[in-house]
Amino acid sequence: MRVLVIGSGGREHALCRSLKLDPQVTELHCAPGNPGIEEVATLHAVTPTDPGQVAGLATRIGADLVVVGPEAPLVAGVGDAVRAAGIPCFGPSSEAAMIEGSKSFAKDVMAAAGVPTARARTCVTPEEAAAALDEFGAPYVVKDDGLAAGKGVVVTNDRDRALEHARSCERVVVEEFLDGPEVSLFALCDGKTAVALQPAQDFKRAYDGDQGPNTGGMGAYTPLPWAPDGLTEQVMREVVHPTIGELAGRGLPYQGVLYVGLALTAKGPKVVEFNARFGDPEAQVLLDRLETPLGGLLLACATGALAEHPEPAFHDGSAVTVVVAAEGYPEAPTKGDPIEGLEPTDGAYVIHAGTRRVDGEVVSDGGRVLSVVGTGPDQRTARRNAYDLVARIRLRGSFHRSDIARTGAEDM
Ligand code: AMP
Repeated sequence: MRVLVIGSGGREHALCRSLKLDPQVTELHCAPGNPGIEEVATLHAVTPTDPGQVAGLATRIGADLVVVGPEAPLVAGVGDAVRAAGIPCFGPSSEAAMIEGSKSFAKDVMAAAGVPTARARTCVTPEEAAAALDEFGAPYVVKDDGLAAGKGVVVTNDRDRALEHARSCERVVVEEFLDGPEVSLFALCDGKTAVALQPAQDFKRAYDGDQGPNTGGMGAYTPLPWAPDGLTEQVMREVVHPTIGELAGRGLPYQGVLYVGLALTAKGPKVVEFNARFGDPEAQVLLDRLETPLGGLLLACATGALAEHPEPAFHDGSAVTVVVAAEGYPEAPTKGDPIEGLEPTDGAYVIHAGTRRVDGEVVSDGGRVLSVVGTGPDQRTARRNAYDLVARIRLRGSFHRSDIARTGAEDM
């Protein structure tokens, strides 16, 4: 099988790393890729959000499967162009990807499908936003309706700040605050049916103790020893199956990852958000633990053959990833600084997220620069392995959270 992966971040490095381990995958390509991906795949300089360029490349190299990593190419219609070229694609159509691309569309689908989620109002004028803020009360949750790379959401007790954010966006969704621990559950979908990966947790705030601004994600771990029994089955039954059924009923069969961000509230799990792709950095830990060969699994999704494919299985033990971010992230990350200490250790390795090669040297090239993955028989060991490798990395001004995956491992 010849596979082409689209994207250049940590998630795509993790996808390529796992695809490379699948004996069915004989050739691996990535566009545009990064220096970490270059070690396992052939890179191609195409614009990932250009559907024509991507479909052209997939045809030229004779790809049997295209795997789209990030949301922007999906929303831009890369999946549609690849499928139109007769090539199976893992990633939803641009219309189905609106489940992530538009918060109001997602809310509408959830309402129609009876999926438990926060009550919400879509607002255009500041007056509407102010009324919705007062309807739901503090803490206030205001979300930019469009794609904002995980940074369009403001959660605050400060009404003025909430209103300010609403004013700065064209359309916002104002919603009820959901109280409870957050869990990410990924469902792999083939248009008709879906299977779940095991639950993971990510850490969205920039600093320790969930302080600071929201980011794309500062770390993650899986499995979650504290997750309630039956959570996955409940979420598949109450959220995933109704949602893909509703989309199929609208003529939008969903092929790809349905990422369900949940809050485990006192009244049960409720959807915080949907995404149309793997979470980054949750993908790093989930793919590390996935035992089922990835290429065959994603091809089954892309060809509507999931019902005939074995359910995903996972290795025992735990994986923890810690993101090393550039100075100034998320507001104004510095770029172009050399990075040292990238070599793997016994229990940990480095996933490249925002790096570039300049004159043979790897330099920083984005806000989240690296995602260090530690593994072990338990969370405590996996966590220690990850942090030991983080300590070896040299990148001027970089920072990381020191409390990733501490829950359940407090006795370290
Ligand atoms: P989103 O982009 O919708 O995932 O929002 C980013 C983050 O904001 C989520 O991971 C939550 O931590 C937080 N958040 C979003 N919506 C809510 C909500 N209704 N209640 C509490 N926190 C929320």
